Amino acid sequence: MRIIRVRYQDRSFYAAIVSPDSVRCLNLEENLTEDIPLAEVELLPLVRPTKVVCVGLNYHEHARELGLTPPDEPILFLKPPSSVIGPGDAIVMPACSERVDYEAELAIVIGKTARFVREEDAPAHVFGYTCANDVTARDLQKKDGQWTRAKSFDTFCPIGPWIETQVPDERALGIRAVVNGKLRQEGNTADMIFAPAKLVSFISRVMTLLPGDVILTGTPPGIGPLQEGDEVSVEIDNVGFLLNPVISEGPADPSAVQ
Ligand code: MG
Repeated sequence: MRIIRVRYQDRSFYAAIVSPDSVRCLNLEENLTEDIPLAEVELLPLVRPTKVVCVGLNYHEHARELGLTPPDEPILFLKPPSSVIGPGDAIVMPACSERVDYEAELAIVIGKTARFVREEDAPAHVFGYTCANDVTARDLQKKDGQWTRAKSFDTFCPIGPWIETQVPDERALGIRAVVNGKLRQEGNTADMIFAPAKLVSFISRVMTLLPGDVILTGTPPGIGPLQEGDEVSVEIDNVGFLLNPVISEGPADPSAVQ
């Protein structure tokens, strides 16, 4: 089932896409049993996470590409909720970076509070999967030595277009990044060093995962730069297709500290 968040008649709720042009309310308390024309709803951000937890270096082929030894435990970092945008929203390249990269990633959306969850119990805590782009200011990542600034600019976390709740096998999904129609990244989640269930379990031993929180599971080989005017898509088999344009930040805010 493909699920989105919508506003309709001053009410906000999760809805299932039941046809190309209609949705069905999933919140029984709203007493909306009739299908609603898609044209009559306002699309809301898919998720409102308290945190976006990301995993660095989680594909064997990407580690080989970088000449690095696969880690023995997941490498975690965070992106702030303010970096999240939806399908079609623009990725804004900040003026202070000269290299902004795409990173196609499978995203896990948490459905049930998770703390000290065993790997075999992890699937019960997953709402579904979606596409994400772990946009990164690569030059600032290298310069700063740690990743907070490079990963955290507003618009650096496109997520969507829907939450797919029925992925047949999350460990066998083709994943691609396409820029202006050209294939730039290609991999398969079978190549992950740490599988989604392992990641949910591992992260839940560090921090409480809440419904709506998102885990970005790492990127396959082929990362590369974006330019102003590009259109970048993240495509994952049986999950979805997420397209975002790329623009540059305008002239510096005159009120900014020089
Ligand atoms: Mg990444």
